[in-house]
Amino acid sequence: MSTPQTQEAGPGKVSPEKAILTDVTKCIGCERCVEACVVQNKLPREIPTRYRADDGLSGRRYTSIVRIPGKEEGTWRNVRRQCLHCREASCQSACLVGAFSKSPDGAVEYDADKCIGCRYCMLACPFMIPRYEYDQALPFVRKCKMNDECRVEGGVPACTAACPTGATVFGPREKLLEEAKRRIAEQPDLYQDHVYGEREFGGTSVIYLSDVPLNDALRIPTSAEFAKMRVPSLETESIPHLLHSWVLVTPVQFFTVGAGLVGAWFLRRRQRLMAERAREAADGRPDETPGSEEE
Ligand code: SF4
Ligand code: SF4
Ligand code: SF4
Repeated sequence: MSTPQTQEAGPGKVSPEKAILTDVTKCIGCERCVEACVVQNKLPREIPTRYRADDGLSGRRYTSIVRIPGKEEGTWRNVRRQCLHCREASCQSACLVGAFSKSPDGAVEYDADKCIGCRYCMLACPFMIPRYEYDQALPFVRKCKMNDECRVEGGVPACTAACPTGATVFGPREKLLEEAKRRIAEQPDLYQDHVYGEREFGGTSVIYLSDVPLNDALRIPTSAEFAKMRVPSLETESIPHLLHSWVLVTPVQFFTVGAGLVGAWFLRRRQRLMAERAREAADGRPDETPGSEEE
């Protein structure tokens, strides 16, 4: 189990941690952010379905727009769904082979080469974000990356660059938090007095502002719901931080699970090699794909 790292700015230091701030009041639901993500990540094209029952995320869709009721009857708000890039990520903590890592710039990254397909990360994520490629012969976990692969001109993710209204923006987390609080202070009648993701489950690097509650759309419990939990401190404390002490007192269980997962890793590697060999045989030449494994 990997220990999560949180980037704090010490005295005289500026944290390099970046974030995405989405202001739901500015989102017009055009889905250009979704389209830009599809293009940037070379994902298969899908027709946007605004009135879907689920949240639209999938192994082929790393961000989506869900519609929730607005303040006035008959009105709607559009809420962008994506990985929240937790400051201390449960997916990272649950993955015993270290397939997830929190980079200093805020992104929680996924390394498919390490993944053994156990899907513990999917169970561990409190926001129900990671998706699995169930329709692929060799499936992987998929979620928003927010890393260098996403960056376009100006060094910002393609999704935020594409937004025509500035509803979703990228920048230093500290500055975006300041900006969010400034907007709330300037328009207290418009906004909820809450920055979603500032503190919940230890805080996230994707944060939200809104005029209507986002708890259901983002899968973030309300304060009342946190208070009713066996561990109400989760309103501000991360799950990995909480579990760290439990891991220390249950080494046998974790060793057993770890041994099982190492076995699964070997099995999965073997499956990959067999698939590569089959492809080589079909092509009649060695696989020269960058990153392909050698025996
Ligand atoms: S939102 Fe879920 S998948 Fe994303 S970093 Fe947090 S725990 Fe991991
Ligand atoms: S940060 Fe990258 S992966 Fe995430 S929604 Fe934006 S473009 Fe897609
Ligand atoms: S591009 Fe901007 S306005 Fe359009 S759906 Fe995405 S966040 Fe909303």
